[in-house]
Amino acid sequence: MSVYSALEFQEVRTRKIVNVHKHVDGPWFWGKYTAHPYVGCRSGCQFCYSRGSRYLGRRDPDTFDTLIQVKINAVELLRKELPRLEHEVISVGDWQQPAEDRYLLSRGMLAVVRDLGFPLFIVERSPLLVRDLDLLGEINRGAWVGVLVSISNVDPVLKRAFEPRSPGVKRRLQAMAKLADAGILVGTSMMPILPLVGDDEGHLEDMVRATKDHGGICVLGGGLTMDGVQAKRTLEAARRLDPALKARWRELYDWEVGGKPSYGPPGAYNARLGLLLRELCARHGLLDRLPRYIPPGPLAVNKRIAERLFLKTYDLELEQAKDYRIWAYRKAAWAVDEWPESIAEIYKVQGEAGLRELPGIGKSLAGEIAGWLREDNNELRITTTNLE
Ligand code: SF4
Repeated sequence: MSVYSALEFQEVRTRKIVNVHKHVDGPWFWGKYTAHPYVGCRSGCQFCYSRGSRYLGRRDPDTFDTLIQVKINAVELLRKELPRLEHEVISVGDWQQPAEDRYLLSRGMLAVVRDLGFPLFIVERSPLLVRDLDLLGEINRGAWVGVLVSISNVDPVLKRAFEPRSPGVKRRLQAMAKLADAGILVGTSMMPILPLVGDDEGHLEDMVRATKDHGGICVLGGGLTMDGVQAKRTLEAARRLDPALKARWRELYDWEVGGKPSYGPPGAYNARLGLLLRELCARHGLLDRLPRYIPPGPLAVNKRIAERLFLKTYDLELEQAKDYRIWAYRKAAWAVDEWPESIAEIYKVQGEAGLRELPGIGKSLAGEIAGWLREDNNELRITTTNLE
């Protein structure tokens, strides 16, 4: 039996294309804006969070892979909306097939990003992305490009069970190598890591090794989320793979028969997974976080210090620290990231008292940030001296 069913495109004109997020997505993708041209995806992966009730709005989730809504004015809207925004990282496009072969909207959106000089982040499962290597290279030369190739695992059994129609893993890895060869910062988005079947050391290390072998510099991992129809479909796929898995997943997600699952696995599970991935990445000389794009100019120091604060929130999550501590660093990261003046200048003139004027920054955080500013200054001095 074919895994393909009828496919329909519905062309729509949308009123707005860019979603402006309240804060950057640190310490994950570092994006402030997102703009995507299609709703629905032909690959129809069982675990896809976009099929969950939160993302499709009022649409019938069962049409997720048979009806693709095409925002045909996506490119013209992007050209209108983007010039009004600060130059922060934007995530645009969606290279799913056959929609993108036919409409070329993602390519059109890249041309806008290139013309306006914005830094770009892409997370993508389709190797069609390398069709647009010319534009990606131009954006990278003008600003910055970071790409995470989405690969949940390199195990063909799991691929068949949970994402039978998504592009082949080998083709995705070849795309990664082409991006790396073109000088683009690339890594793997290992999301979702499938609990209890794809989260052991062997599966994770295979992914880390494959990333390294194809020029990737990092592997970011994330657990499986469960939401609405997507949760039921994913659980059913797990049962078909191994009937015993169903009960084990129910237990992990605290999902009683007739009830609802937790949205994600417990914190202790996530922490164990994150630490294991961190150790494996270190073993193979890779990172478990995507390095942040730092724009030139006087506010670069704020971005660097905010990056450290965001990274600290992740470290604390892995340590399973108390929520209030994680939130303290997160709020400090937002404050520093969004402050309109250089915090290095503030510290130079007013010392730690000046840093404490920023919202959510008390004595202890001000002291920590002051230490980082001194290190940052030393590093800058060393870099400048080396350039002379
Ligand atoms: S390819 Fe990506 S967007 Fe499409 S169904 Fe699979 S996970 Fe979802």
